[in-house]
Amino acid sequence: MPATPFRFFDVRVLRAQRLSPAMVRVTFVGDDLSAFVSGGRDQRFKLFLPHPGQDAPVLPADLGDGWFAAWREMDPAVRAVMRTYTVRDQRRDPDEVDVDFALHTGDHAPAGATDGPASSWARTARPGDRAALLGPVEEDNGGVDFRPPPGTDWTLLTGDETALPAIAGILARLAPDAPAKVWIEIPSAEDAQPLPTKAAADITWLVREGARTSPVLDAVRAADLPPGTPYAWIAGESAAVRTLRRHLVDDRQFDRKAIKFTGYWRQGVTEDDLIAEIA
Ligand SMILES: Cc1cc2nc3c(=O)[nH]c(=O)nc-3n(C[C@H](O)[C@H](O)[C@H](O)COP(=O)(O)OP(=O)(O)OC[C@H]3O[C@@H](n4cnc5c(N)ncnc54)[C@H](O)[C@@H]3O)c2cc1C
Repeated sequence: MPATPFRFFDVRVLRAQRLSPAMVRVTFVGDDLSAFVSGGRDQRFKLFLPHPGQDAPVLPADLGDGWFAAWREMDPAVRAVMRTYTVRDQRRDPDEVDVDFALHTGDHAPAGATDGPASSWARTARPGDRAALLGPVEEDNGGVDFRPPPGTDWTLLTGDETALPAIAGILARLAPDAPAKVWIEIPSAEDAQPLPTKAAADITWLVREGARTSPVLDAVRAADLPPGTPYAWIAGESAAVRTLRRHLVDDRQFDRKAIKFTGYWRQGVTEDDLIAEIA
């Protein structure tokens, strides 16, 4: 795994579009975004947002190597909200970065769902709103996790709407005719998107329509999987991801090392709580 050459970028919203009931695409611009270099696929980065009432995210004065310790020392009510997101797309001339935000509440969400600071911010984002990105400056960087080993015959991808930007990026980069089985869980049928790819991808959309449980596990359990050596990339709600990984290892005899699994969020727990757990 390469190192993570990341740096901070000041950005502002160029536009915010509601793509579908549960998804908002925010396009960021910034004076030095020419130095932001996405590795594509599931490229992740850290997003820093202002609290309501602040006009810009409040970051430590020194953004060198010690920034994280300095950020943790700051008052949580004042310091920028930090969240993890995926580069949905990057364009040059002019330099623009798209980020797709899943909204947690709405007509198709389960009862009791709540938005958090980031999804709330995206819901009301307007041109000129300020944010900061901690993002890559080299294409080969440690923020890309989709790395099938040599000898992979086919790819299995699963995720919910938070993983849809990453799955879109992975599909865009898969080799022509590479076999892929893909299951994507979305709140409503209107949240499905075109996913351009040259791969031989068999894509199944699974609509939750207010259900709290994840339909991905049942779909994969019932599936006929292709022969040959698989590589699996699975993301979404943490408990659902863990259960699916167990199924692939225990019931389908996938090699553990050929599974990249990432909890993108955890039911009832904010990303601040998750950071506090590991810090
Ligand atoms: C590597 C990585 C890449 C990611 N990329 C994206 C991306 O491109 N787009 C994207 O939308 N998300 C992405 N996520 C997920 C995103 O970081 C989380 O959903 C995050 O919790 C959202 O922050 P928030 O402030 O809105 O909610 P938080 O304050 O963190 O949480 C508030 C409440 O909402 C719940 N919650 C969190 N996410 C969801 C959800 N999706 N649906 C329902 N309830 C939820 C939490 O359990 C909590 O109860 C990614 C996560 C990781 C680790």
